[in-house]
Amino acid sequence: MSNGHIPTSASEQIQIINDEKNFTPHLSTQLERWGLRDAGFNYNIVAVFGSQSTGKSTLLNRLFGTTFDVMDETKRQQTTKGIWMCRGKDMSMLVMDVEGTDGRERGEDQDFERKSALFSLASSEVLIINLWEHQVGLYQGANMGLLKTVFEVNLGLFGKKAQEGPQSRTLLLFVIRDHIGVTPLSNLQTTLTADLTRIWDSLSKPPALAQAQLLDYFDLAFTALPHKILESQKFEDEVAKLRERFVDKSRENYVFRDIYHKRIPADGVAVYMENIWEQVQSNKDLDLPTQQELLAQFRCDEISSAALGEFNEQAKSQKRPIEAGKVVQGLGGLMRSWRDQTLARYDRDASRYHNGVYTRKRLDLHATITSTLNPLFLGQLKNLHKTCLSTFKATLQSSLSPGGGDVNFADVVDKAKRECEDNFVEVAREVCIEDKDWNWEEELSLLKEELENVANVFRKDETKKMVNLIERNFKKQISEPVELALNSGTLDMWDKVMVAFKKWLEKAESSYLAKAKTFNCTEEENADSLATIQRRAWQALRTKIDEQTADTVILSKLRGHFEERFRYDDQGVPRVWKPDDDIDGAFKKAKEQTLALIPLYAKIEPQDSSLEYTLPPAPPSSPPEEEIDFTSTLTVFSETKCVDLSNRFRRDADAYYVEAKRSTVSSIAQ
Ligand code: GDP
Ligand code: MG
Repeated sequence: MSNGHIPTSASEQIQIINDEKNFTPHLSTQLERWGLRDAGFNYNIVAVFGSQSTGKSTLLNRLFGTTFDVMDETKRQQTTKGIWMCRGKDMSMLVMDVEGTDGRERGEDQDFERKSALFSLASSEVLIINLWEHQVGLYQGANMGLLKTVFEVNLGLFGKKAQEGPQSRTLLLFVIRDHIGVTPLSNLQTTLTADLTRIWDSLSKPPALAQAQLLDYFDLAFTALPHKILESQKFEDEVAKLRERFVDKSRENYVFRDIYHKRIPADGVAVYMENIWEQVQSNKDLDLPTQQELLAQFRCDEISSAALGEFNEQAKSQKRPIEAGKVVQGLGGLMRSWRDQTLARYDRDASRYHNGVYTRKRLDLHATITSTLNPLFLGQLKNLHKTCLSTFKATLQSSLSPGGGDVNFADVVDKAKRECEDNFVEVAREVCIEDKDWNWEEELSLLKEELENVANVFRKDETKKMVNLIERNFKKQISEPVELALNSGTLDMWDKVMVAFKKWLEKAESSYLAKAKTFNCTEEENADSLATIQRRAWQALRTKIDEQTADTVILSKLRGHFEERFRYDDQGVPRVWKPDDDIDGAFKKAKEQTLALIPLYAKIEPQDSSLEYTLPPAPPSSPPEEEIDFTSTLTVFSETKCVDLSNRFRRDADAYYVEAKRSTVSSIAQ
């Protein structure tokens, strides 16, 4: 069987190290097929050592129901050199069959023996040392050489760590085969122990370990099995008993004590063994703590990226809606559960590894998760901000729409603001699942500022509308009083005009102030609005006056005044001129009186000086083009205009005179 072949049956063996000393690429897959990958620490490893053809494979198959190749008796053909592995039948156990050659004499084989000893000691809890009874006491024998190698190698591996406890202890279980029974086991045991001690003492140890004892590193156990062929039933019975020591945890002589476990999580065994073999192969110092840390790094990375894979899928699901501007309901809950699930997946598998590495990689994983979720968090805040703002605008719009009724603007704004901010805080809190580095307070204060700005724009708009409305009303209100006053042509006509102007201006101002209170307008805004109202009121008045003093209108007014004086007598009765009437005198008088009205119309000047009005200067905030040269607006007709009007009126009056004269001539002629 070559290294490239994947066993098809879960009960089949796998050659983890072939005769070319290469490590199989399929161990990980095989462990999974055996269903041991997720066993955590709930599995055991046992390895067997011993000379060739001492019935090692036979024993393992009997003990653990494994399927290792056994030498074919008829051909006496050796099984392939290397390390083979099986899963114990119905056991959470890995069994390693180390097939060497019995070649103490051949240098190349010592190399494999040394390497396989290192490899087995670094991973196994129990090392079965298999030997014939007649090999016991043969100090020069092959077994003793093997044991010397094991001890040496073990010193290198665990020497420094002798005091560190569980991970450095291994059980050596001696199985004496073809025990005839003449020499009791206890005697064999004594002999073997003496030999082992002698070998131990003969090792050249580093000075620091000069005092180290064999039993500081190894527990020793001994058992014997009868001849398999000569006493086959007894052999089977003893094997069955021995088997109990591997499976029955309640037994006192249960072999897999916790202190022997090498603490490699099952899902890391393949990588660990491969690394160990690589180190051993390249003749590098095998430093187990470093190996465990390297294993932890490798596995924790693997576990972390597997956990992240699922996480990324989940996180991706909400990327689109967020990018499309949606506020995703319950996003915080989703993100929290993705994060917690991911960390839990990592913890489940990675927490069995080297604690420092596990903890460090967990922080990395958490950081990666957080940075993946951060754009979702920020996106949600941004979308939330936008939604809140547009809801706020819509609320103001609908409350202020023509159908909205007479509302208190300040109250509407306050309520909408509060609702908007509350909503923001609620959703922001929900989505903020990391207190470190994540915060929404800044976004909230930005939002508050913008709400304020929007409210201001609305208020200014509303104020403008209100000022326009007040202006329209004012125009209506002054129209009639001004017309009446200017028609009268009495000396106090400007007094009447100014009384009406002041009365209605005052009304306009107070109606503004009453409404402005519900707007929460600022002092400055009020000052601006009042100035605007005053200016527009004055302009409205001037427009009205202009309309009433347009050429045709004023000439018609003058004609009216003249006619009243010339064509009617003091009692208001129409005159019928007789030849001896003083037409010339009456004409002259009426004309003079009427002409005297022109300067009265020419300037807005009430007789009662307390009725005079001065437009206050425009506030600095108003645009310069709205500046009014108030004094010049008091002049209705320039002097030239007055002369022009006088001339035109005279022509009109002359026409009346001629008509009057004509009427007397015609009456004489009758
Ligand atoms: P391995 O090379 O150590 O794995 O030895 P095998 O299990 O392949 O067995 C080698 C030979 O020894 C085979 O022919 C077995 O049938 C035989 N054998 C196995 N167990 C025993 C035993 O307990 N006593 C004797 N005498 N022969 C055995
Ligand atoms: Mg074998």
